[in-house]
Amino acid sequence: MMRILYQILRTGIVTEAMPREINARIEAAGGRLEEAVKRRFRKSLTIRQVDAGSCNGCELEIHALNNPLYNCERYGIRFTASPRFADMLLVTGPVTHNMERALRRTYEATPAPKLVVAVGDCACNGGIFGESYASRGGIGKVIPVDVAVHGCPPDPFAILSGIMKAIEEKR
Ligand code: SF4
Repeated sequence: MMRILYQILRTGIVTEAMPREINARIEAAGGRLEEAVKRRFRKSLTIRQVDAGSCNGCELEIHALNNPLYNCERYGIRFTASPRFADMLLVTGPVTHNMERALRRTYEATPAPKLVVAVGDCACNGGIFGESYASRGGIGKVIPVDVAVHGCPPDPFAILSGIMKAIEEKR
């Protein structure tokens, strides 16, 4: 035990502090987002994430929304496993033929206002996969899209901005 404590004291803090300008940028955008969620969704926006056939790169960035840096729950955003409780679908793509029906049914099961944010180039327009024997291309071919967040993959800040845009623009 003493050996471990001694090692902890000797090693000190090895993580890097977050650059102040990045922190300020996230705080500013998060404050606006929190206000919008409070106004339109009574302090709680629930998101169902759907992977319609992505390489999982976009999922890693979406997961980062819950890390200590972004911590999106403090803005009233949480994820759900059921579309029936969701206000918004965050969809990564492209839409594979195997996932087309599931995506359509998820959209139908989502109550109003059914906000849809396409995350990543593949979800926006098929990206590097395009259209093929296995892929329908962008998710706009299957369900209506409110906001497209481009990038391969887009960073968590771009995804937060896309969520904000969808809340502000769809009335
Ligand atoms: S946009 Fe890039 S990271 Fe996202 S699913 Fe497509 S290839 Fe993967």
